[in-house]
Parts: sequence; structure tokens; C-alpha cells
Amino acid sequence: PGIPTAAVSRLVTYLRILEELERAQTLTTSSGALAGRAQVSAFQVRKDLAYFGRFGTRGMGYTVSVLKRELTRVLGLNRSWNVVIVGMGRLGQAVAHYPGASEYQFGYVGLFDVKTELIGKHVDVPAQREQVSGLGQAPPPRQLRIEHIRDLADFAQQQRGCQQAIDMGFLAVPPEHAQSAAQSLVEAGIKGILNFAPTLIQPRSKEGGPLQEISDEWRDVMVENVDFLVGMKRLAFYMLNPQLKDQDPE
Ligand code: NAD
Repeated sequence: PGIPTAAVSRLVTYLRILEELERAQTLTTSSGALAGRAQVSAFQVRKDLAYFGRFGTRGMGYTVSVLKRELTRVLGLNRSWNVVIVGMGRLGQAVAHYPGASEYQFGYVGLFDVKTELIGKHVDVPAQREQVSGLGQAPPPRQLRIEHIRDLADFAQQQRGCQQAIDMGFLAVPPEHAQSAAQSLVEAGIKGILNFAPTLIQPRSKEGGPLQEISDEWRDVMVENVDFLVGMKRLAFYMLNPQLKDQDPE
């Protein structure tokens, strides 16, 4: 059985709370305390955690460092993820500069666009977490050169050659170019796409085959569509219908 997307999102929230607790040197916590901070019920917290095993001792709560380590592992955040940004316009540039991603070992390794005036430009990206985690000053940002999208497949090949395979593509192109840019990512062997364009990426079907028949290169590709307008529309709906707000989301 699958795990609801909302449960995975809540795990990310619990992890953030655990990090705050650790910073405040709190050693233990409980489902009730996590629930209070995450604004869900204690039952919800226990249920979410139960998808992945048993983390606490009944009635004893959780050791903050242990639960944090386990959630980090469950979420796949105990390894590094190599990310390329495709589309270096307003959003792509803002994302490239944002230091938050490196906090979780999401490291930018390549930047791509199609615009002649952007190709060859150098952009500062944050240093990766392993470089930041030591005491003292954070190291200065690294510089990456914006490359043409047609060079993505060769770049991906080189990265694989030096054991630095690209894991994810962050898609920040206009909606009308999103499908073709996604195709470039998939043809380069990249299996994860975070799509910010307000359009749904369709897995490419087999040439001439029925729609449900996915072509080999798309078969194990994961796409996450992120549309910030969805959040605004949901907010508008709940502001107009506060009585319909689900206090204990599934
Ligand atoms: P933008 O026009 O500033 O930048 C888009 C960039 O994509 C351009 O530099 C363009 O040359 C490049 N591009 C086009 N086709 C490409 C391809 N095949 N391969 C590589 N690069 C290609 O647009 P933006 O404001 O940065 O928005 C990007 C996407 O994100 C849009 O789909 C937009 O709707 C969405 N979005 C933007 C924001 C925002 O605040 N700017 C917020 C949420 C979502």
C-alpha cells in the first residue's frame, strides 16, 4: 500500500520540529508535543510514523536525536542529491541563490537555459552542506556556468563518469517549454523532475502505442508538480469556508 503524499509532507514538518528541538537542546519529545507544534493530532503523528516502523517506546516518547536520524534516513536526506536547474530566468536564478537547499544536501551541479545571453554567465550557488557543517565561517558560494540545454546529455554522462550522477532536475521554464525540457532531462537519464511550470508533465508514451504505454526512458521517472497558485487557491477556499477546514488531515 502507498503512503499518502500529505503524510510524507508532514514527516518533513516533524523533521523540522525535531531540528528546532535539537537546537534548543531538548533531548526527548512525545507524539503530543510534535502534534502541538505541527498542528495535527497526536494520533496523526503516531499514524504517520507507523508507516515506517516503530520509533519510540510506548508511553516513553521519543529521543529527539534518534527520531531525527530515523526521519532523515526515511526521507532519504542522509545522502547527497545532485540537482540541475533547467531554466535560469527569474525563478531559476532565485532558486540557485537560495541557501536552504544545501541544508539538506541538495547540491546544484549544473545550470541550463537556451537563451544566448545567459549561456556562459556565471552564477553563485551555495556551498554544499558537508562543506558548511564544520564550525566557523560558511565557505564562500561556488560558481557555476550556465550551459545550453542541448549539452545536458553530455554533461550528465560526464557526471556519471565521475560518480556524481545527476539525480534531479529543477524545471523552471515557461509552461509551453516544460514538456520538451522534461524530455531533455529524461533523455539525459535524470529520474526525478521537480516541475515549477504551471502545467502537468506527461510521461511520454511509447511511439505509436496506446497512451498508457509508457516509453522505457520515462518508466521509472518521478515527477513532482509544484504550483504555488494551488496553495493560494486553497487558502482562498478555506478563508471563505473556514468551517470546512479539516482539523485532522489524512
Ligand atoms: P522566465 O521567463 O524568467 O524564465 C524562464 C527561462 O527558461 C528563460 O530564461 C528561458 O530562456 C528558459 N527556457 C525556455 N525554454 C527552455 C528549455 N527548453 N530549456 C532550458 N531553458 C529554457 O520565467 P520565470 O518567472 O523564471 O518562471 C519559470 C517557470 O516557473 C514558469 O513556468 C512560471 O510560470 C513558473 N513560476 C514562476 C514563479 C515566479 O515567481 N517567477 C513562481 C512560480 C512558478
